[in-house]
Amino acid sequence: MTTQRTHLHDILIVGAGLAGMRAALAAPTNLDVALISKVHPVRSHSVAAQGGINAALGENDSWEAHAFDTAKGGLYLGDQDAIEAMCREAPGDILELERLGVIFSRDAEGRIAQRPFGGAGFPRTCYAADRTGHALLHALYEQILKRRTTVYEEWYVTALVIEDGVCRGVIAWDIVRGGLRLIQAKAVILATGGSGRAFLTSTNAVINTGDGMALAYRAGVPLMDMEFVQFHPTTLKDTGILITEGARGEGGYLLNTLGERFLKRYAPEQMELATRSTVSLAIGQEILEGRGVDGCVLLDLRHLGRDKILERLPQIRQIAMEFAGLDPVETPIPIRPGAHYQMGGVRANQWGETAIPGLFAAGECACVSVHGANRLGGNSLLETIVFGRRAGTRAGEYAGTARHETLAPQHLAEEQARVERLLAQSGGERAWQVRQELGTTLSTNLGIFRTKESMTAAGSTVRELRPRAAAVTVQDKGRVFNTDLIQALELQCLVELAETIIAGALAREESRGAHYRSDFPTRNDAVWLRHTLTQRTPGGVRLSYAPVTVTRFQPK
Ligand SMILES: Cc1cc2nc3c(=O)[nH]c(=O)nc-3n(C[C@H](O)[C@H](O)[C@H](O)COP(=O)(O)OP(=O)(O)OC[C@H]3O[C@@H](n4cnc5c(N)ncnc54)[C@H](O)[C@@H]3O)c2cc1C
Repeated sequence: MTTQRTHLHDILIVGAGLAGMRAALAAPTNLDVALISKVHPVRSHSVAAQGGINAALGENDSWEAHAFDTAKGGLYLGDQDAIEAMCREAPGDILELERLGVIFSRDAEGRIAQRPFGGAGFPRTCYAADRTGHALLHALYEQILKRRTTVYEEWYVTALVIEDGVCRGVIAWDIVRGGLRLIQAKAVILATGGSGRAFLTSTNAVINTGDGMALAYRAGVPLMDMEFVQFHPTTLKDTGILITEGARGEGGYLLNTLGERFLKRYAPEQMELATRSTVSLAIGQEILEGRGVDGCVLLDLRHLGRDKILERLPQIRQIAMEFAGLDPVETPIPIRPGAHYQMGGVRANQWGETAIPGLFAAGECACVSVHGANRLGGNSLLETIVFGRRAGTRAGEYAGTARHETLAPQHLAEEQARVERLLAQSGGERAWQVRQELGTTLSTNLGIFRTKESMTAAGSTVRELRPRAAAVTVQDKGRVFNTDLIQALELQCLVELAETIIAGALAREESRGAHYRSDFPTRNDAVWLRHTLTQRTPGGVRLSYAPVTVTRFQPK
């Protein structure tokens, strides 16, 4: 942590999850690199990743096969040049991670073990039991410590500093001591993760409020494909805690109230390992048609046996015991789909470059785009590593030739005025109340089934929530560790993003991957094989579209 008054760096990385730390390690060592994070780095949501990370390591596997599965799984909305880069570079990145000290689970021959995952034609998901994110994040953090990289720990970035159309730093609130500071940098990399907390039931950590996407959006960078929010098929009843796809990868079944493996009617070949959007829709349909169990279906692991569950899925067993009060060795787990992953995000190219020079983005907050309309399990951790590394490399090249400019004082002054107003105002609701309503309307109206009516209703609710979010009362008027203030700022980000999700989803009159419209149930490549771009204007969200890059896999 730093206390000096002038904050000046070559590269500032916002976010210390996997994408941010990987970017920091890729930057040239002669540059001054700093990370900034609203929580301690190893509390970033990456730590919660369970199932694993994909790479074609097997003798009979190939990066081309991985690329094909990714393009197909994403319903051909992913840009294939970016997909190719990710899949081609994946094996090298996994071996690099291993050299950095990641303890991957092993097979009988001592090689990195790989488990089958949904939508993959080959078992290519590398894992560390069911705590893969933990293993990866801690190994990278050790490297950050070793390099003595500056880490602004528990600082909250409230705005980007853009001058003459170039990104030159950020404004951030020091959570521990209170107060806003200007942190100047030649290059800024956004690695702020996902926005799952816009929804009421989500697998995401409470810190996943899409801040980086909102910062870029406010600065004029388009967000891409925001309507594609992945609903993970198996989240725990009541709490929404994730039950990894690895549970099905290891052989778990999904059962309805009749005890039937209903996937045979939806995906007879892939069964429980069909893509997430297919499995989520199937579960939703079973529940709708009255074959659910108390608003859920059952994930049955009993036939795997105690030993395999203890070895491969120890955390899942613990979660089921602690949060559902049952032992999966003996009892099936009640699960239902929940918001999990934002396929869209800050539009960035394969090197993390955005529309604003000096501003880069990587990881879940970015849309490069490799996941298209539906992300395959294990591809997100991979994305953070490959594109985090690439963004760090390119930002290094950029910062190596850029100069620090003297910045106008109004950047800090304006932001100070905004935060002081928020702190001072009274008479409004609490941030959590507005957030609850936002989450409810999105989960109800933009969940796995969407219609024009449901989304229009969500649109008018969110329009009404915007001024209420701006008028919330921060009851804690202090400066030190004011989480009330942070939640108010996060809420404003979530509302902004909700508008882009709704606008993109209402306009897209087709069904593709995670975006399923009961009123337009088929995919329409003739019109909709294109990316949605949302841009902020004073009058609201402006929509435009961009072509999808197709290289070797023609949409089928
Ligand atoms: C429960 C769960 C399990 C998952 N399992 C898997 C899996 O097995 N395989 C897979 O491929 N994917 C999985 N995913 C998805 C994957 O884990 C994430 O997409 C990925 O880890 C995101 O990494 P990231 O580096 O982009 O962001 P994160 O790890 O979320 O880090 C974001 C960082 O940004 C910082 N930040 C955010 N806003 C601000 C701000 N305003 N100011 C300062 N700092 C800020 C945070 O403090 C944090 O350090 C899972 C996701 C969840 C939720």
